[in-house]
Amino acid sequence: MKLLEERIIKDGVFLGNDILKVDNFLNHQIDVALLDKMGAEWARLYEGEKITKILTIEASGIGIACIAARHFGSCPVLFAKKSKSSNIGDDFYTAKAYSFTHGNVNDIVVSKKYLGKGDRVLIIDDFLANGEALLALTSICNKAGAEIAGVGIAVEKWYQGGGDKIRDMGIRVESLAKIKKMEDGRIEFC
Ligand code: 5GP
Repeated sequence: MKLLEERIIKDGVFLGNDILKVDNFLNHQIDVALLDKMGAEWARLYEGEKITKILTIEASGIGIACIAARHFGSCPVLFAKKSKSSNIGDDFYTAKAYSFTHGNVNDIVVSKKYLGKGDRVLIIDDFLANGEALLALTSICNKAGAEIAGVGIAVEKWYQGGGDKIRDMGIRVESLAKIKKMEDGRIEFC
């Protein structure tokens, strides 16, 4: 998506260690108009897929998923929590997710009340790097018996290999900006 690529070039900051900072518009301060256009693009790509639920992971995925959901009719957004809060109850699906940015492992949880057989899920997240977050979310869908229609990613750092790992599992992945290379502050898109 040209608009997102241009915004990454304009406002993205390469921090080294494979981290791209986009907190000017995507995951701290949020450009709602841009997120709305991204949501429209995923809706176009997944048209006719009969999505019943958008699944994401806290925290950065939530805003992106909620704005995208406006383009998917009455589809609710469900987000995996990174810790088991006392009000989630005892009945939940869980999976381990290694966090690329924090360097720790989270036991992510989703209440069994909100995901199950009959759901056709679109997973949305801000970044795709090594694919750990997605592996945990797909594992939760599998445990719930929910069908995965596909994945929508804002920024895929393709060279890190996570996207192709998920595609090799037979899961459709649509990334709106795909980075081929990030070196010395220069970003090259696929
Ligand atoms: P993965 O699990 O695919 O290795 O990494 C994806 C997760 O790590 C995303 O949920 C995202 O929050 C975070 N992440 C990975 N790479 C970056 C990055 O370059 N910049 C930012 N801001 N977050 C990232």
